[in-house]
Amino acid sequence: MEPILQVEHLSISFSQYHRGTRKRTLPVIHDLSFSICPGQVTAVVGSSGSGKSLLAHGILGILPYNSALEGTILYQGTPLTQRRAEQLRGREIVLVPQGVTYLDPLMEVGPQIRKGRRDPRSKARSRAVLERYGLGPEVEKRYPFELSGGMARRVLIASAVVEQPKLILADEPTPGLDARAASRILGHFRELAEDGAGVLLITHDLELALTIAHRVLVLYAGETIEEASAADFSAGRLRHPYTRALWAALPQNGFTPIPGTQPYPGEISDGCQFAPRCPRCRPECRGPGPVPYVPRAGGWVRCRFPEGGEAL
Ligand code: SF4
Repeated sequence: MEPILQVEHLSISFSQYHRGTRKRTLPVIHDLSFSICPGQVTAVVGSSGSGKSLLAHGILGILPYNSALEGTILYQGTPLTQRRAEQLRGREIVLVPQGVTYLDPLMEVGPQIRKGRRDPRSKARSRAVLERYGLGPEVEKRYPFELSGGMARRVLIASAVVEQPKLILADEPTPGLDARAASRILGHFRELAEDGAGVLLITHDLELALTIAHRVLVLYAGETIEEASAADFSAGRLRHPYTRALWAALPQNGFTPIPGTQPYPGEISDGCQFAPRCPRCRPECRGPGPVPYVPRAGGWVRCRFPEGGEAL
């Protein structure tokens, strides 16, 4: 199947003033590659500061003015230029944002979903999409402050998918929800994939991601360090020590903490970024040069001495 989205060697950096008038470039995402097929949920998992949300903004063409993007993004096989992203944004490619504050507090739900349109077809579509997410017609007349957290999340999804998009970028779509409500919301994304859309789910919550994702991409310090299938986790086929540590940190797997902290963008060093925390670290891991990202056993890994394999 042809991918709907291909991201190849994507890097995003920011220029900012440092110590008065001196400018510096801060790399936040580095050499990121993956693809998404229609009907597939790909989860991008990483702790805060790993660059996950920036990835969505880069795809949508809504990065801030002081940023620079390198690499290639292809949508349906054709480069997703800034102009094309603007044309497709909100129609074929949509963002389900982190915060319910994206809803206009002064507008009723119905007009928000219809983007102000009043024709009978738009009204029928907004009613149908609300119904799909278990929200009755009375919700159309409510303002965002009259919705519960779970309802507001469902309105955000309804608002994003009313145009039947082909690519959905969901950025931490379940904060503040209890486990049951969160899994119900994530179930909606799985349904959208079953209907044929490609879904990129951005989250810090590996456990939740594994309930719906087909593929999992693990980000660490702005780099992809592993791509694995969801089945690789339960089967113990993980390749990278950090992914294994994330898996072992889940409550059902022993709650084992990961010592140390992820480096900030300004602290990126030569060699493997995980080296200071890695129990398998050897002198070769610290450089010179970056660790290559290579295919391995149906997935990808960025590690010189991956688990269960030959040294790279
Ligand atoms: S490259 Fe070395 S330090 Fe980095 S994750 Fe692999 S084994 Fe650990």
